[in-house]
Amino acid sequence: MKLTFAPHTLHFKRPFKIAHGIRSSTPIALIEIECEGQTGYGEASMPPYLGETHETVISFLRNSGDIISKYSNPFELGNIINEVDAIAPGNTAAKASLDIALHDLKGKMENKSCWKMFDCNKDNTPYTTYTLGIDEPEIIKQKIKEGESFKYYKVKLNGENDKLIISTIRSATDKPIAIDVNQGWKNKYIALEMIEWLSNQNVLFVEQPLAKENLDDAHWLYERSPLPIFADESVQRFNDIEKVSGCFHGINIKLMKCTGLYEANKMIKRARELNLKLLIGCMSETSCAISAAAQLSPLADYADLDGALLVKNNLFDGIEFMNGKITLNELPGIGAVRKLEL
Ligand code: MG
Repeated sequence: MKLTFAPHTLHFKRPFKIAHGIRSSTPIALIEIECEGQTGYGEASMPPYLGETHETVISFLRNSGDIISKYSNPFELGNIINEVDAIAPGNTAAKASLDIALHDLKGKMENKSCWKMFDCNKDNTPYTTYTLGIDEPEIIKQKIKEGESFKYYKVKLNGENDKLIISTIRSATDKPIAIDVNQGWKNKYIALEMIEWLSNQNVLFVEQPLAKENLDDAHWLYERSPLPIFADESVQRFNDIEKVSGCFHGINIKLMKCTGLYEANKMIKRARELNLKLLIGCMSETSCAISAAAQLSPLADYADLDGALLVKNNLFDGIEFMNGKITLNELPGIGAVRKLEL
């Protein structure tokens, strides 16, 4: 097999503000793995607060080339992924790009959609939320209109004007909303007070209310919260699940955090054994990585896979949303097709 890769930048339709800060683009890398005339596509997305960059991803991919070229096909996928994972700790987005491309390639060579490989029923896909970043009331209202075909919104809060944001949303729509605080609430008392207030606002769940390492307070909140609380930043990979069990009601699994579909599938199984609810999420990504994550979405309770809708230069066509419901296609692999260069 042969690996090639190139850095790109995704540009947002609007500046995107969350508790970590505001930005208007995200560096990504697109990769291809070729074998016997077929091409598997993969993508790494590197939001700056997670520590990976174009340079670290390209360097990791260079170091992975020998492993990829040592194998003549992607069928021993688990072995290849374990070897790649052992190259260095971290680098989860770079690892995810290889995992996605290997799954895509394997699916194409077997003429099988990845959702079939994972024994998913394509009718069981969840609805994705449509994300509302932190903005002035007028812009939030505009964005609600832009996302009016979606069943749920995801609302970013950061502890500054939270009640104003929610009141603005409630003046425009009574649809259910999911809340994502991105660690933005300062302490457990503020968090509980806000969650109690939100419990009368048709809220589905609250994601990552407190700092990721603060599991004692997460446990305190878990025992008192009237709404389900999901871990996002507190859970990166498989080995993190055990330690958050009993501190959260559910977890947000993202390919860029957990190194891809292979590990995500294992995480889903373990989370279910621990009675955790599941959200499958994304970074700002093209329809390549989004379609890959969507292949596992029938196994999740909720999805937050609108990342490609928020960027101007989506370089792939892929899965679609029918009134927000994830609609998987019958294409082999991850179900994404590279567009002509924009
Ligand atoms: Mg989140």
